[in-house]
Amino acid sequence: MKVHHLNAATMCPFGGRLISGRGGLLGRAHMVCHVLLIETDDGLVLVDTGLGTADLAAPRQRLGTGFVLMTQPCLDPAETALAQVQALGFSADDVRHVVLTHMDLDHAGGLGDFPKATVHLHAKEHEAAMARRTMAAKQRYIPAQWAHGPSWKLYEAEGEEWFGFGAVRALSDRESDVLLVPLFGHTAGHCGVAVRTPEGWILHAGDAYFHHGSMAAEPWTPKGLRAFQAGTDTIGTERRRNQERLRQLKQARGKEITMFCAHDPAELDACCAGRRP
Ligand SMILES: [Zn+2]
Repeated sequence: MKVHHLNAATMCPFGGRLISGRGGLLGRAHMVCHVLLIETDDGLVLVDTGLGTADLAAPRQRLGTGFVLMTQPCLDPAETALAQVQALGFSADDVRHVVLTHMDLDHAGGLGDFPKATVHLHAKEHEAAMARRTMAAKQRYIPAQWAHGPSWKLYEAEGEEWFGFGAVRALSDRESDVLLVPLFGHTAGHCGVAVRTPEGWILHAGDAYFHHGSMAAEPWTPKGLRAFQAGTDTIGTERRRNQERLRQLKQARGKEITMFCAHDPAELDACCAGRRP
């Protein structure tokens, strides 16, 4: 088995240091969409999808003007998960499974590029995305991204235990396991995705936190990012509680677990260089 760490969309919002935690105040910040591509016995597994080709073709219509203005996506076709899968010599149909941390537009955008994949996620998240009950839900969940009608596989019960967290097994083969680890709060059914590899465990924490500083012994998060995080919380108390649980896990077991969130470029760089963030 092999794990590839990919960036499936770069976003350059205004806000410089307030978002990135470094550089000038007026510069652009830099955020990524960290995606995993896993080569398994049962074909390719993608964890999150970033933005897809249809998002890039008509960003304002697909993603909404508000999202485009706020996050300033760079819209490079070479960054789509599909382009990177093809660059590695595979085709879209080789992606048999997509596992989603949640269904926000910057995580589910590439679903349509892999129409034959089974899409695995928490039942609560699927329900919230289909219902789109609030104004915020209508902005973050974009039905056009799953208009091709994927085959969904939904999970609810937490039958497993993962480092003190409840978890549910989604996929397994000889060398790997993929578990959904409920970390609700950012959205109603947001999960981390834990992957067992021969080299140890990986946790894709999705948007459970946004900046590596939040996981430090003395936690800190750039001010603007903290505001952005609070503004996108569905249940703030739950998100903050889960962020703290992850911080304690990282402090206690950080040498065994490669843990990262979706949007931190420093964590992606570390993973691409084969280091633990
Ligand atoms: Zn996100």
